[in-house]
Amino acid sequence: MDYKNDIKYRKETLKKLLFNIQKNEDLIVKALFDDFKKPEFEAVLTETNYVISELKTTIKNIDNWAKRVRVFPSLLNFPSTDYIYKEPYGDVLVIAPWNYPFQLALCPVISAVAAGNKVVLKPSELTPNTSSIIAKIVEKSFHINHVEVVQGGIETSEKLLAKRWDYIFFTGSVQVGKIVAKAAAEHLTPITLELGGKNPCIIDQTANLKLTAKRIVWGKFINAGQTCIAPDYILIQKNMKINFITYLIEEIIQAYGKKIKDSPDYARIINSKNWVRLTDMMATEKVIFGGESDDNDFYISPTLIDEPELESAVMKEEIFGPLLPILVYESENDIDAIISKYEKPLAFYVFSENDSFIEKMISRYSFGGGCINDTVAHFSNKRLPFGGVGHSGMGAYHGKLSFDIFSHHKAIVKKANWLDLPMRYAPYKDKLKAIKRLLDWI
Ligand code: NAD
Repeated sequence: MDYKNDIKYRKETLKKLLFNIQKNEDLIVKALFDDFKKPEFEAVLTETNYVISELKTTIKNIDNWAKRVRVFPSLLNFPSTDYIYKEPYGDVLVIAPWNYPFQLALCPVISAVAAGNKVVLKPSELTPNTSSIIAKIVEKSFHINHVEVVQGGIETSEKLLAKRWDYIFFTGSVQVGKIVAKAAAEHLTPITLELGGKNPCIIDQTANLKLTAKRIVWGKFINAGQTCIAPDYILIQKNMKINFITYLIEEIIQAYGKKIKDSPDYARIINSKNWVRLTDMMATEKVIFGGESDDNDFYISPTLIDEPELESAVMKEEIFGPLLPILVYESENDIDAIISKYEKPLAFYVFSENDSFIEKMISRYSFGGGCINDTVAHFSNKRLPFGGVGHSGMGAYHGKLSFDIFSHHKAIVKKANWLDLPMRYAPYKDKLKAIKRLLDWI
């Protein structure tokens, strides 16, 4: 078991993981349903299939990604050949959240393994069915000294964080992200933090309102709004608000029917704590659509909230649920006053046909990533880096980048011996002019 040096071994274990996931796909989908009624379609699209696709891409590319890369040498070192070696960090800790509990736990594990690391995964305690099937699948696919799943809650997480790691990959809330960063600082351990934030969705007067409503309803209410890159709030031109709300209501009914509670395509809130948090949030607001809730199965219907105060709970913290506040603006100053109130978001969405407005919005604000005339879709392109900035996170992953973040990039200059230019060696007398000329030239 030489996962550090033997790429063939890494590939074999990843193939085993692929086999075990494919074999157990129905059970994984069932576990996700049992945890919070994640609809089958969403479970396959955003969890099992996503991981399967990540595995296939990684298995196909691992030899290439692991190769040392030759880079153009510096003329100062002439004659030399220069390389970047990809070296595994060593012991990696992955801590995962509950909202996409299969995908967000396993994708970092796959890349950490591909890059030659030993991994400990702590999945979320809030999705016990999914965490347990992850543990079984990992146990079947890897030697316990290679990849291990440690189940448990905050205390387990704290114990793990107290140990020394060579890399920590954390996905979760900003608040816990800070705890992870502090623990990592103790040993100067490098980290990736995939966090959250309040993601704005700006709609100007040129936007195609019907299509905009359709795409926002999809991105907001998938997983019952419990998506880190879901639109958090709408900022729309004041005179378009009424029309837009009509379209939003039409699209919600089109997607989930009139009896949303009975729809097989609508998930539940993860637990009582979050259900109470969300129902408290909407209790004091002007609800213009939805607002139904049932604590028997932690149901909250897709809910539209009309122009809440910026100081209200719904506008103060990340919503992370199916409540959609609709705010209005009349000028770009209004947009600025609202967006600048918050920390840099994880995602940012602009709906417009006006290229100069779009470019202005994209370049004026700092955020992790986003879409023009869509929501959430940037997550699915493996060629795009996925991650936050500022309070929404640190570092980015997906595709080859995931392999790279779990590898130390070791720089090597291989000097040739057939020539040894005397210029750099002491005594320096009379060499300064010549070296300055050379430096000017290169
Ligand atoms: P969380 O921060 O509460 O928990 C995440 C993990 O940290 C869990 O495994 C949990 O056991 C552990 N944990 C919780 N409290 C801890 C503590 N005090 N000390 C040590 N470990 C602790 O997050 P969550 O509720 O599972 O997920 C929701 C949050 O995650 C949202 O803010 C969302 O935006 C964010 N998120 C971000 C991404 C992303 O890719 N950027 C993806 C999904 C979720």
